[in-house]
Amino acid sequence: MDYNKLADLLFPDVVLTPEDIEKRYPPRVLSEGAKVTRFAPSPTGFVHFGGLFPSIVGERLAHQSGGVFFLRIEDTDGKREIEGAAEGLIRTLAKYGIYFDEGAALDENGNIYDKGSYGPYKQSMRTEIYHVYAKKLVSEGKAYPCFTTDEELEEILQADKKSEVKSREWTEETEAKQKAEQLKMREFTLEEVEEHLRQGHHFVLRMLANGDPDKKIKITDLIKGPLELPENDKDEVLLKSNGIPTYHFAHAVDDHLMGTTHVIRGEEWLPSLPRHIMLFSYLGFKLPKYMHIAQIMRLDENGNKKKLSKRDMGANMDDYTRLGYAPECVREYVLTLLNSNFEEWHAQNPDKSCDDFEFSIKKMSKSGCLFDFDKLNDVSKNIISKMSAEKVYESLSKWAQEYDEDFYSELASNPDYAKRILSIGRGGSKPRKDLATWADAKPYMSLFYDRYFTASDDFPAQFSKDDIRSALTMFIETYDEADDPNVWFSKMKEIAEKLNYAPEVKLYKKEPDKYKGHVGDISMFVRIAVTGSVNSPDLYEVMHIIGKERTTDRINNAAKAL
Ligand code: GLU
Repeated sequence: MDYNKLADLLFPDVVLTPEDIEKRYPPRVLSEGAKVTRFAPSPTGFVHFGGLFPSIVGERLAHQSGGVFFLRIEDTDGKREIEGAAEGLIRTLAKYGIYFDEGAALDENGNIYDKGSYGPYKQSMRTEIYHVYAKKLVSEGKAYPCFTTDEELEEILQADKKSEVKSREWTEETEAKQKAEQLKMREFTLEEVEEHLRQGHHFVLRMLANGDPDKKIKITDLIKGPLELPENDKDEVLLKSNGIPTYHFAHAVDDHLMGTTHVIRGEEWLPSLPRHIMLFSYLGFKLPKYMHIAQIMRLDENGNKKKLSKRDMGANMDDYTRLGYAPECVREYVLTLLNSNFEEWHAQNPDKSCDDFEFSIKKMSKSGCLFDFDKLNDVSKNIISKMSAEKVYESLSKWAQEYDEDFYSELASNPDYAKRILSIGRGGSKPRKDLATWADAKPYMSLFYDRYFTASDDFPAQFSKDDIRSALTMFIETYDEADDPNVWFSKMKEIAEKLNYAPEVKLYKKEPDKYKGHVGDISMFVRIAVTGSVNSPDLYEVMHIIGKERTTDRINNAAKAL
């Protein structure tokens, strides 16, 4: 077969050669060891939590090594594309601190443009380039057209499904059938091709796979370690019948031209690796290094590990926004999942930014991280506890403005009041850790706002109502806002003694039969009356923030309701 002729027949409009294209993409000038990485999402309108992993890894590895991190939009699957999804994606990533040196970017009007000189960075703009390389492969007998229509292929597939018997014989039989099908596809004459083209038939372009699956390719994945994979014998589609490349082909061409040194992607691509290795070799490209990130797992109701699927809470990055997680918390949580020594490092370097952490490929999990909200909440509480009240107020208000208007108007009506509440227990070596999300703020702060406060008469039943009532009344009679915390508490002790409660817990523990309770119980009565709960931030501070009038009212009301 005259492959050059075939190439001309299939790609009559392609006049450029690979050399012409290569000139547009000169090798990058970078220092020794600098890594060029990319994040290459398909804009489906859904930013998956799993997408943060390769993007954070790519960002860290490039920037730690003085390299380049770029964004490529893989929009070759028209069916899945959603208007504005790429723009949304860029915004979401930026929110999580993922910035690109190069690639698809947003201008000040929010429109996508190409930043950098290795573009276009949107695959749909690169068809001309793919066709140049496709033509080259055809001219070398490494790719061939297949005029079987999608409908015909679908028919074959359906027929296979109908005869489906889940047995080993069936698998072997199907495989043999597929092999025969593939061999049949490979057989055609130039005349047949010309005739198809004359009739306006479309073709898909397939690679001619010369691998033997009984033989193994040895390759080292930087995360998974040394691997042995079967050689590829599948004539993978390179161009679809509309001339658009498949992921496989676009990956090889783009990562070569854009100078990617490390391909960081989900492990769902691992089975395709032999095809990619073959493609890089067919195209004469140097193979990049590969890092396949294990899938993210979660525990189901029965404690079994399951893949974090699209429908699970936490899979969609929008979930975090809605639930009120601060992006920096989610980012830090991802780092704890990605590098097993991150947490220890952070504990030793509490004041350093996570970007000072030396991210290491060796510390990445081979088998998959376990996602769980409890851990995220812990990380998050820690981070928020170290923020200033001012910052918490700003972020909380921004979130509430969108997701809880009513609360937002309360916060906005008296910012200083809200900041005083948020200042309780902040600063110092052991800050309070009440908030994991902005959504946690309302229940936590509700006692300070009359419209959210719910009084409680849920006093522990082992104490007599008379004692509780007396304690509350005595407290009000002696309460003086000007008292410092020590005086305030010594008054609590006096009340305890008068009611035959131990003025110190220690004393009570020594001789429990001698007392009806202890001073802690007295303050618990007051706490329930004032805050509506046994758990509350520092009672002294609460009283000072809500003021004498409200403190007195609440205590009086509670005493009356007993
Ligand atoms: N578009 C592919 C995906 O979203 C990218 C995989 C890769 O990074 O190469 O899975």
